[in-house]
Amino acid sequence: MNIKENKQILLISPRGFCAGVTRAIDTVVEVLEKFGPPVYVKHEIVHNKHVIDDLKAKGAIFIEDINDAPIDKPLVFSAHGVAKNIIDTAKQMNKYVVDATCPLVTKVHVQAIKFYNLNYKIILIGHKNHPEVEGTLGQLPAGAIVLIENLDDVQNLKFENEDKLAYVTQTTLSVDDTKEIIDALKKKFPHIKSSPKEDICYATTNRQNAIKDYAHECDSFIVVGSKNSSNSNRLVEVAKKSGCDLSVLLENANNLNIDNYKNHQTIGLSSGASVPDILVQDVISKFREAFEINVKEVGAGEENISFKLPRGI
Ligand code: SF4
Repeated sequence: MNIKENKQILLISPRGFCAGVTRAIDTVVEVLEKFGPPVYVKHEIVHNKHVIDDLKAKGAIFIEDINDAPIDKPLVFSAHGVAKNIIDTAKQMNKYVVDATCPLVTKVHVQAIKFYNLNYKIILIGHKNHPEVEGTLGQLPAGAIVLIENLDDVQNLKFENEDKLAYVTQTTLSVDDTKEIIDALKKKFPHIKSSPKEDICYATTNRQNAIKDYAHECDSFIVVGSKNSSNSNRLVEVAKKSGCDLSVLLENANNLNIDNYKNHQTIGLSSGASVPDILVQDVISKFREAFEINVKEVGAGEENISFKLPRGI
C-alpha cells in the first residue's frame, strides 16, 4: 500500500473576488439576461481567463476597439475604467453603454479631475500600458498627468512649479513599494498633495496584508491568478518579500506540477481579486489526490463589502 505524504495547506483569507470584480461580472450577466447575447465588452471585464471563457460561453464578446461593437448591441466598459474620449465617442455613436468601472477606480478619476481643476500638475504612480492606468491618464488632457513607475522615475521628475503638485496611484499596486515611491516624492516635493483616502483599494491591501502574515511560515506559496492580473502578480511579489522565495502565480490546477511540492511541508495558498474560488478548490483537490493534506484556514476572514450594479441595467 502507498502511504501518502502529509502536507499542510495554509489557505489565506481574504482572497479571491473583490466587490468591484463581483459587480463587473454581475453587470455583464445582467446585461446578457436583459438584452440577450451577444453583449460587447470593451477589454476583458476582469483579468481572469476562467471568468472570460465563462462569459464568452454565455454570449459576451470582448473587444478593444469600440467601433467593433454593432450600434444596436449593448456595450459594457470593464472594471478597469476607460479614458474619457472613449466614453464620449460611445455617446456620439448613440451606443447603449453600461459602465462597470469599479467605484474605487472612479474615485481615483474624480480625485485626479479635482486636482486638475485646482491647477495642480498630477503624478500618477502605476504600471505603463495597464488598462486602469490608460483610463486614469485619459480622464484629463494629454500632459496633465505624468506617469511614474518606480524610484528612478521620481529622481528624473522636474517641474517649473513644485508648489502645485499632487499624486494619485493605480488601485492594485504593491502597498510597500508604493509607500517607498510616495516617501521619495514627499522628500523631493515637500508640498505635494495626495488623495484624502488611499488610492490602493481595500481588496489589494487586505490580500497583501494577509499573505504578509503567513508567507514566512510556508515552504512554498501559490497565488492563483492570471498573468495579466496586476493584483495577482503583486501578491506573488509580497509572498516572496515576506519570506517565501518559492512563490508562484498559477493560472489553474491544470498548470500545477504536483511533483514540485514533494519536499514541501507547508504550502501557502491564496488568489487574486479576479479569481473565482472554484480555481483555488481545484488546486486543493489536486494536492489531495497526491498527498494527505490538512487545510488550515488562516487570515482575517472574508470581507463584507459590496457595490450596487451600475446605472443602465
Ligand atoms: S481590485 Fe480593488 S479597484 Fe480593482 S475591482 Fe477590485 S475593489 Fe475595485
